[in-house]
Amino acid sequence: MEFIDNRGAPPELIRKIHEKMETCESVKRVVFDAFIEDLKGDMGAFDPETGTIYIDMGACLMRKDWMKKGIMYIPNVWFNLMMTVFHEITHAAQLDEELGLSELHSLPKHYEYEATAIAEHMLMDWAKNNPIPTLAEMGWVGDQIKLLLNKLYAQMPEVVNEEIDLQGTDIVAHAKEAAQASKEYSQDHETALLLKQINEGMVGAKVNNTMYLTAYEAIDMDHVVHGETQEVIV
Ligand SMILES: [Zn+2]
Repeated sequence: MEFIDNRGAPPELIRKIHEKMETCESVKRVVFDAFIEDLKGDMGAFDPETGTIYIDMGACLMRKDWMKKGIMYIPNVWFNLMMTVFHEITHAAQLDEELGLSELHSLPKHYEYEATAIAEHMLMDWAKNNPIPTLAEMGWVGDQIKLLLNKLYAQMPEVVNEEIDLQGTDIVAHAKEAAQASKEYSQDHETALLLKQINEGMVGAKVNNTMYLTAYEAIDMDHVVHGETQEVIV
């Protein structure tokens, strides 16, 4: 398998692709670039004809969907990158299994949902054992984030300092915002219970009197088990 890295991809991402590729034969090439015109703002794509996965690191910097879950900007970008890699690898695996799919122009919705669900699982699995890389470990993406944070500093120094201080840890979300954006903890008494558990050191983390959640807890707030509200997923 060949890597074409036109900008400088984060080494952790490349490591992870190598690991996943051992089980996926149809991927011949992974291209890392930014603002790829043909992708029209999508973060990634898999071309079954050439066996090429495209990762658009520029689009990964722009999309802020994770922030709606209370997740901070740097982990938001990192999750975009990892999810894109995992999502496209899953598409390649889907096509390996059902060759007829490659003739379709775009995949049926079911395959999209499946790819996203599997990618989220892979992301959670990764988050269990790894901190978010620092900006210095994120290659081109890290450089872009530094430029952006520098520009933002005059307007919101506290937000920027918080992003910088927490880089390289597994702390990714403001607990209160994340709770209120979730289904399971959005009621006031539920949010209060979560904050109490963080205060007691059962989950999350407390830094400078602010309550946070770790990546593993924040990625899928509605399924992670927290203290009393245990739930079994089958
Ligand atoms: Zn897809």
